[in-house]
Amino acid sequence: MPDILARQFTDEEAAIAHLEASRWPNEVSCPLCGSLNVHRMAGKTQAGYFLCNDCREKFTCRTGTVLERSHIPVHKWLLAIHLMSASKKGMSAHQLHRMLGITYKSAWFLAHRIREAMTEKNPPRLGGEGKSVQADETYYGNTSKRAKGWRKGHRHKEQVVALVEPKGRVRAVHVKSANKANIREILVRNADRRSELHTDESKLYTEVGREFAAHKTVEHGSQYAPGFYVSEEGATTNAAENFFGIFKRGMFGTYHKCEAQHLARYVAEFEFRYNRRSGLGINDKMRAEALLKGVEGKRLAYRIPRSNQEPEAAS
Ligand SMILES: [Zn+2]
Repeated sequence: MPDILARQFTDEEAAIAHLEASRWPNEVSCPLCGSLNVHRMAGKTQAGYFLCNDCREKFTCRTGTVLERSHIPVHKWLLAIHLMSASKKGMSAHQLHRMLGITYKSAWFLAHRIREAMTEKNPPRLGGEGKSVQADETYYGNTSKRAKGWRKGHRHKEQVVALVEPKGRVRAVHVKSANKANIREILVRNADRRSELHTDESKLYTEVGREFAAHKTVEHGSQYAPGFYVSEEGATTNAAENFFGIFKRGMFGTYHKCEAQHLARYVAEFEFRYNRRSGLGINDKMRAEALLKGVEGKRLAYRIPRSNQEPEAAS
């Protein structure tokens, strides 16, 4: 049976049971005080409710998660979580709106809350002794053919810095504009300095490179002089470029554009999927389960999206 025909995606009772089992694999605990002294409330109107015998508060499987205070049924949330974790290039709010039969506004909020669930709270440092970490940065935004020349310059774009372990994990961070100081901050916070650092020849990495076990650079080349993708010393930033390729195809193909204030959440979305890609032995179901574990302890309030937030795809 294809994954998306599973009962928890069509049947609300099955969906609630699925979310409860994911949150509380052993014993149900009160999300408000942590007590295990809880009981399921009886009666039809109390369906799905638990009562905590210690703090005397009522709660459901949604309490303390990104699903809290949402009127969208749990089975639609689970389907959206499955679709967003299975779609390599992401899924637009317009597509979710059509597939789930909810308003565009609801779909937009739901997608952003799911991105919040994808955000890792305390990601482990990349690399380590005897390992290498590639770092590279890319520009994002204002590449539209209609944008005037002066708006297309790098000054009007946002940047994303990615640290990647070859054949391993990525950590991607949105910055307004990359400079030596914020590059250093990103590198030392997210990568183990006992690693070998691989970058291009950008001066942004020269100083911080000395803090790492070794710093090797690769010449990217220009339109006049073809570069080397792997230096003689074996340095490469191919893995970082591969991540940027997936990110950009998704951002341009699925989301078309997004405002700078939300870019970090989209970056987190692509990072989440990349770190759980099929090449690492993780299938769609496992990825959706990992995402469902991330719904806890994250809640958000968003301003209403502007009507031009995510223009309809031409298709
Ligand atoms: Zn309690």
